[in-house]
Amino acid sequence: MIHADFALRHAGQLATMMPNEGDPLGRISDGALAAREGRVVWIGEDRQLEDQVDLDGDQLDAAGACVLPGLVDAHTHPVFAGSRADEFAERVSGAEYQAQQSGDRGIARTVRATREADAATLLALTEARANRFLVNGTTTIEAKTGYGLDLLNEAKSFDVLRQLAARLPLRIVPTFLGAHVVPANTDRAAYLRALMEEMLPAFKAQAVFCDAWCDEPAFTSSETRAILGRAKALGYQLRMHAAQLAPGEGPEIAAELGARSADHLEFATPAQVKALAAAGTVAVLCPGANFTTHGPRPPIEAMRDAKLPMAIASDLNPGTSNSESLPHAMSLACVAWGLTPREALLGATVHAARSLGLEGRAGCLQPGSFADCVVLDVETPEAIPYYVGVNRVLQTVAGGVVWRPW
Ligand SMILES: [Zn+2]
Repeated sequence: MIHADFALRHAGQLATMMPNEGDPLGRISDGALAAREGRVVWIGEDRQLEDQVDLDGDQLDAAGACVLPGLVDAHTHPVFAGSRADEFAERVSGAEYQAQQSGDRGIARTVRATREADAATLLALTEARANRFLVNGTTTIEAKTGYGLDLLNEAKSFDVLRQLAARLPLRIVPTFLGAHVVPANTDRAAYLRALMEEMLPAFKAQAVFCDAWCDEPAFTSSETRAILGRAKALGYQLRMHAAQLAPGEGPEIAAELGARSADHLEFATPAQVKALAAAGTVAVLCPGANFTTHGPRPPIEAMRDAKLPMAIASDLNPGTSNSESLPHAMSLACVAWGLTPREALLGATVHAARSLGLEGRAGCLQPGSFADCVVLDVETPEAIPYYVGVNRVLQTVAGGVVWRPW
């Protein structure tokens, strides 16, 4: 007998996301899973559970609903204060995102509000966002800093992430994004020096990843190479905002440096897409930000041809995508870009997990994986994006515990 402290039973369709003959979602009908100390220890048909599993703990009856691994969001900026709703309103009336980045507007405005917020306020704001991730079925997020942009305020942002991880069952993979933009009223060379010589070494112990935005309002190709090259030498794994607003060398740099992910990629060329696939990088696509900046469709066909794995992310941020909902991002990717529902599902689970180095543990359900799953009121897993803008999540389980909101 296998000992377990949690069981989920009677999943109408239990999508393990472990491909089997004929089904890339590895579905089990009337499925069940058992977990111990936060990890899956058994998974199979419900009728076999009682013969094989000795359960001492809670049971959750999915009552025929669909069950999936907890969703994995590979690109989020959750630590910020302030609102930019007025900039959103201007953009829907025709203003351009880049034109809003001058002076003390755009990202600079969020940086100021984030610096001014005390630690308790910033924690409360970020905790509300973390709860909304869980409400919407996400159990793992990549979380970037990048609105502090100095030693003190980046440290404050990491502190918020550390406290959140201790308070909530949401899994948080921290990323240092000191290379978000050069802060307003700051000398560029002095900022780059502080970033490379002080901040990168200081935050190595707190971040898994280092990210940089290689695009017109942020950092040039040569700056990005220098920053991420230094980060790699210090032992960070790499991600990158690349070719979002204009064509550029970002995707090549991501491939050259062996980044785990290259994100956005609206302007990536077919040759760049091939280079990313050859490097084993994952493309993290951010439909929410794409729509509110009126960006072009990313080169989806080239990505399919090159077999470049495509993750789908919320890109939660105050400027271009103020949403914690991955099902909503999946709907956008399907409706406006023509991703298939299956591609969107893989993008919010398996591929997102791979981009975080969590393949086999998050974004799938098998013995040894995190006991993170989501129970959804949908007829099949592929129906999730069909419910555009509606949260069909019934329950979120994280680490073998049923999560109760607020
Ligand atoms: Zn971003």
